[in-house]
Amino acid sequence: MTGLINLMEETVLNKIDQLWAGTDYCKCDSCKMDVAAYALNRLPPQYVQSLKGKVLYQFASSQTQRDIEVTVAVSNGIEIVGKSPHKNTHFVSEDGGNLTAG
Ligand SMILES: [Zn+2]
Repeated sequence: MTGLINLMEETVLNKIDQLWAGTDYCKCDSCKMDVAAYALNRLPPQYVQSLKGKVLYQFASSQTQRDIEVTVAVSNGIEIVGKSPHKNTHFVSEDGGNLTAG
């Protein structure tokens, strides 16, 4: 995995900052990571290997459809985490995830 980065992470974090500005929810790092985890679990990863890939992705990410997908996922995450801050396990199992198994 050396050299690979998931550009969706950066996209989601930027979107959180944008959408959070209009809310009164807790904005601590813990909540931010909870929102990011929620959104990233629902969005396709965008792994790239090079700076060239990153530039191309940033161009593609400006497309409306992808922006809508990210906005929806982040908005849902902000709502769920914002209404129950610092209880970051309840939504993981909601979709039948096995993150706690083993
Ligand atoms: Zn918080």
